[in-house]
Amino acid sequence: MDVTKKGEASFSAEALRDKYRLEREKRLRPDGSAQYADFSGVYADFDRDPHVEPGFTRPAVSETVEVVIVGGGFGGMLAATRLRQAGFESLRIVEKGGDFGGTWYWNRYPGAACDVESYIYMPLLEETGYIPTEKYAKATEIFAHCQRIGRQFDLYRAALFQTSVAGMDWDDDARRWIVTTDRGDRLAARFVIIAGGVLHKAKLPGIPGIETFQGHSFHTSRWDYDYTGGGPGGGLDRLADKRVGIIGTGATAVQAIPHLGAAAAQLYVFQRTPSSIGVRNNQATDDAWVKTLRPGWQRERIVNFSAIVSGRPQEVDLVRDGWTYIFEGDASSGATTPEEAAQLRMLTDFRKMEEIRARVDTLVKDPATAEALKPYYYQLCKRPCFHDEYLDTFNRPNVQLVDTEGKGVERITPTGVVVKGKEYAVDCLIYASGFEVSSEYTRRLGFDIRGRGGESLRDSWAEGASTLHGMHSRGYPNLLMFSTTQSGWAINFVHILDEQAKHAAYILDQCKRRGVEAIEPTEQAQQDWWEVIFGTLAKGVGFGGPECTPGYYNNEGASFGPREIRSAGYAAGTLGFLQILHDWRERGDLAGLELTRGAAAPNS
Ligand code: NDP
Repeated sequence: MDVTKKGEASFSAEALRDKYRLEREKRLRPDGSAQYADFSGVYADFDRDPHVEPGFTRPAVSETVEVVIVGGGFGGMLAATRLRQAGFESLRIVEKGGDFGGTWYWNRYPGAACDVESYIYMPLLEETGYIPTEKYAKATEIFAHCQRIGRQFDLYRAALFQTSVAGMDWDDDARRWIVTTDRGDRLAARFVIIAGGVLHKAKLPGIPGIETFQGHSFHTSRWDYDYTGGGPGGGLDRLADKRVGIIGTGATAVQAIPHLGAAAAQLYVFQRTPSSIGVRNNQATDDAWVKTLRPGWQRERIVNFSAIVSGRPQEVDLVRDGWTYIFEGDASSGATTPEEAAQLRMLTDFRKMEEIRARVDTLVKDPATAEALKPYYYQLCKRPCFHDEYLDTFNRPNVQLVDTEGKGVERITPTGVVVKGKEYAVDCLIYASGFEVSSEYTRRLGFDIRGRGGESLRDSWAEGASTLHGMHSRGYPNLLMFSTTQSGWAINFVHILDEQAKHAAYILDQCKRRGVEAIEPTEQAQQDWWEVIFGTLAKGVGFGGPECTPGYYNNEGASFGPREIRSAGYAAGTLGFLQILHDWRERGDLAGLELTRGAAAPNS
């Protein structure tokens, strides 16, 4: 089928489909997610926190609190903030980093910024009175906002930084969790909220020979400015005489590469799959626009964006950016069958990706390099990127794209990187290789959870998760999890986190009002919830998913086993999921939760 729209080049949908399939097949590998290594064993040194002085110690803490929150990123901070607003004073936040921020604490690589508009991504703008300086805020500004939230909501006094949870055990007699940490703390808490993050467990490409490299190397989430010089704004002056290699061309690399290209004597970019690079068009915040904002503006903007990117067209597109453009012109909401909707979405996607590929040709001078930088897959198979300097960087004489044609780096030697039999000698090798996303939940958390009768969550979920709303699991009373497992998902993920935080605060407040000491979902509620999740998956007939090029969105293209299927999220849009939580709260009966009212527990 030839598709032509006024003012656009025609393309053949069949030819593109075939090309996408071939490109996907090149990249499928039998080891799937097992190709990656984490920061353990010989790689433990990669985990060093470059933002704190080594040798920190403090006395162990032993205390009883109402709520322990695991994680001090946006999820944990929002949970703490919403709890504070509901009158909960007795909180403890346990955080591995040396400050609040989570993602924004760790990711300070040059060029780091958020691709989601700052006015909807940065939470609590109206509550803090802060207006971001740009449409797309840089990491430094977002990290400073995390600190602002920490100060304004008095969260610092609750924080235990540079501390990792070692384990959690439910004490059924006292109806409390006992949380232990790697610093010897023992925290007894009525409730625990786990806000461990989604993209926090960094991974290394398990390339043969990686441990033999004798030059300098680090992962982007632990950027070594002592070595590179400069800072998040660039100016990496110590690379002026260095040959640098970077492995990976995902959202992180796309932002770092322009700075590396500007600074290094020689930069090799080792690419397996190109990212789609849409227009960025960042702009300073317009004061005149700020003056027009009325109370409630942030929530309205957040909801408007989530609706559009959930495929629910709105009369006005308040954000109007590369994300909402992906959905512009998509007529699938008017389709009469899921198959027709999928076909319409596919055609819109082909058009948009043709534009992405045409943009490469306009910006990259060398035709072979331009061709290698063109992504051939459906746009949402991988995280779309938006950048106005990335593609031009490949016109620099000191920058070379080393395209592995979907196969990945062959080998790492003590002195360099081998692709298609050729060694590229480097002094420094940077891994922009991302984070674990679909691995087992407690592996990503870094600790197991022992519920009633000592039952381990790792074991209970070995064949797949069981939850109510992705938040509660039977056998693990008073545990509230913010994750993507059987939960919602959003392009603007902070939208989900804030709603989860409000939901958790509502539940804990209800428990307090009703004298409830323990909550736990019923078997039936978990079964019903799984049917809701499965129903959304079953309706999702269409392109993408199994047809996608491998990546963390589709478990590296491996077929899904029972565990992965049961880890799926609600697939009928962000707002659909949030509506379910909202309606559940409106009913006011904590439906599906077993409530244990309090025979007074010790110290309660
Ligand atoms: P990704 O997982 O997106 O990228 C990892 C990269 O490493 C991919 O290009 C991958 O190739 C490549 N790779 C892995 N193994 C090999 C190998 N053996 N040889 C060569 N290349 C290899 O990680 P990122 O850190 O870039 O991004 C993770 C997520 O973080 C994003 O998807 C996004 O959600 C978020 N993020 C958001 C940002 C923003 O808002 N601007 C910025 C940065 C991150 P392949 O694609 O073939 O697997």
